[in-house]
Amino acid sequence: MDHRATPEQIDRVVDVIEDMGYGAKPMPGRQRTAIGLVGNDGRVESARLEGLEGVREVIKVSKPYKQVSREWREEDSVVTLGNGVVIGGRGVVLMAGPCAVEGREQILDIAAQVRNLGACVLRGGAFKPRTSPYSFQGLGVRGLELLAEARERTGLAIVTEAVEPEGVAAVAEYADMIQIGARNMQNYPLLKRAGRVGKPVLLKRGMSATITELLLAAEYLLSEGNPNVILCERGVRSFDPQTRNVLDLTAIPLVKSLTHLPIVADPSHGTGVRTKVTPMARAAVAAGADGLIVEVHPDPPEALSDGAQSLYPEQFAELVAHCGPIARAIGRNLATLPEPALTGAVKAAVHTTM
Ligand code: PEP
Ligand code: MN
Repeated sequence: MDHRATPEQIDRVVDVIEDMGYGAKPMPGRQRTAIGLVGNDGRVESARLEGLEGVREVIKVSKPYKQVSREWREEDSVVTLGNGVVIGGRGVVLMAGPCAVEGREQILDIAAQVRNLGACVLRGGAFKPRTSPYSFQGLGVRGLELLAEARERTGLAIVTEAVEPEGVAAVAEYADMIQIGARNMQNYPLLKRAGRVGKPVLLKRGMSATITELLLAAEYLLSEGNPNVILCERGVRSFDPQTRNVLDLTAIPLVKSLTHLPIVADPSHGTGVRTKVTPMARAAVAAGADGLIVEVHPDPPEALSDGAQSLYPEQFAELVAHCGPIARAIGRNLATLPEPALTGAVKAAVHTTM
């Protein structure tokens, strides 16, 4: 309260807090009185208090999110995908593939390549949220079918984006993990639907979202009953056009201290520049990322989206070779596909490439 606040003004604040259903604890000090609000369930509408006479400042002591917080759950959450791959454990999970599914040959080709190079998850958009309405929008359900075929052939789990609430069910039918893109991080109807559909969700940080906003977006998923949420740092907007975004590496240890949820890094969208992807992938693993999601294309110059940041398969091989020792230096390793995911066909393919 302001140092000139009258006893009546203090009583009025106490009444309003009690009226809101919480306890009020006035704590008189030498200069001013502070009033503690107890029983806060995270839904306090602080604007109601800020407008009262004599109130100097409303200071939030507890976090606005609950279920995603470390206080709610101390141990790390681990998310297990359909093929048995675990995200959030000791293994750093590599997810790789094109920005968009462009056709059968393209996706089957790159799936086999990234799988043989060490990826456990295949990425690829079937529904693309493009900045321009004239850009390639994705193959839609046909793209989902092709991803499912690639999964069958390789044993890779599939992560692909849902761009609207009405599309969540179709994506969930095919995908092992539903991606919510940066542009949709605060699409609350989409989050609510994804929270109810029963598949793990990869939630990407909005391009100008704070960490608190990211965690509140994740809270939507958990509050709808979905505990299987993986966060993704994919770079934030800056003033410098030299890179597409600035990959916020501090977000990785920061998020880990605030939440029990796993976090992965996307050095492809985080930089927008092919030659910068592997250095930032190395840095993200060193910073403690639970995985990487990387764009790799069989022929990047011909890619229908994000070609400039897509790695050639040989570059992905180099990324994998560099990240393994870094993971081991911090007591981790690169995740590998569990045995059951290795079908006879895949085993044969692996042996021929080793
Ligand atoms: C993508 O993964 O291809 C994508 C569109 O990412 P973001 O939502 O981070 O821009
Ligand atoms: Mn992309």
